[in-house]
Amino acid sequence: MEVIWEEPYESFSRFINKNGYNSLLVICDKNTFDVCAVKVKETVEKSNRKCKIICFEADVTADEFALGKVLFEIEQADIFVGVGSGTISDITRYTAYKFKVPFVLFPTAPSMDGFASSVAALTINGLKTTVLASSPEAIFVDMEVIENSPEILKKAGFGDLMGKITALLDWQLSNILFEEKIDWEVLRIVKNTYLKTLNSVGVNDFCKNLLEGLITSGIMMARVNSSRPASGCEHHLSHFWEYHRIKTYHGIKVGLATLYVLRFYEHFLNLDKSRIHERKEYKVDIKTWEDAIEKGFQPTFGSIIKKNIERVSKLNDKEFRSQVINRLVEKKEVIDELIRDATIVYSELIDAYKKLEMPMNYWEIGIDDNLFKMSFLCAPNIRERFTILHLYEFLGLTDEVVRSF
Ligand SMILES: [Zn+2]
Repeated sequence: MEVIWEEPYESFSRFINKNGYNSLLVICDKNTFDVCAVKVKETVEKSNRKCKIICFEADVTADEFALGKVLFEIEQADIFVGVGSGTISDITRYTAYKFKVPFVLFPTAPSMDGFASSVAALTINGLKTTVLASSPEAIFVDMEVIENSPEILKKAGFGDLMGKITALLDWQLSNILFEEKIDWEVLRIVKNTYLKTLNSVGVNDFCKNLLEGLITSGIMMARVNSSRPASGCEHHLSHFWEYHRIKTYHGIKVGLATLYVLRFYEHFLNLDKSRIHERKEYKVDIKTWEDAIEKGFQPTFGSIIKKNIERVSKLNDKEFRSQVINRLVEKKEVIDELIRDATIVYSELIDAYKKLEMPMNYWEIGIDDNLFKMSFLCAPNIRERFTILHLYEFLGLTDEVVRSF
């Protein structure tokens, strides 16, 4: 997959000529039509190719209705062209995959990391689900469009990219404690990309670095065939808030969650070995856990309990506890070093959030005290992928950290 940063429309024209695409289907919304799709249309028509446009309302959701609209309006097409950010790229990626045609993207905002992805986030029966799709043949970037995109979308993309700080820490933690496979090259690339973006907040290259970072994260996910390099418990928290219909962009939630997850890592740094040893005696009270899940996951708590009961019961297994605690104590210095290395940018990160006017407290995005407290106990049950929140669930110290917020 190629990313074209210079002369996007000329390159696109060469691309369709070279590949002999004769009829193109452009998928966009009313906003992205005006800023970008109209230029795509002109480019196609100048090359004497057929161009059909499917234009959605600006607030479209990638759901059954949107997919049906493509099915209803589609005519013959050799390739799909998605012009937009999250939702439009999901609709394009999924319908192109279903119709077995290739597709390319013209991103219009640096708002999320899914451009290069091979999965689509759809809302089916009202629930967000991730389904198999395909990756784009190429991504054409009109930097003028990206620079002029709404500030809220840039903030969302920045939050999603900064989430990689804790995502990578979670990955390394799991590698150290449970020998989960890790790709060091992928880790290094993702880390460089978020650092480069963080260092450029407020300067000229910010938008380019941000979009490049987001696209690169997607490519790295595809490379290891997992979202591990891009998603840890900051994403689990974001999904939990989404479940509770907290209405703001994905990346805004992820960015906020990242700040809280970093506080867990900071707490771990201050945890001494004798305290960790003491936690061998801790037992999860299954009844209390079930009550928490029942409150946190109305009305689908039954399936969440069923999915997690075995995992949570294992936390009380004496041998398992002793193994993990011994490993933690043995590797404490190594883990501390990783945390220090990643959090060296903490004050820079806080400055960047302030400069960009990102939400830094839960109430700013409409989360109440109750939901906030529940989040950290419930998030580990969203996905089994091991994170610092799973470690704190195991140690029984989640409440202690949350009380310090
Ligand atoms: Zn994300």
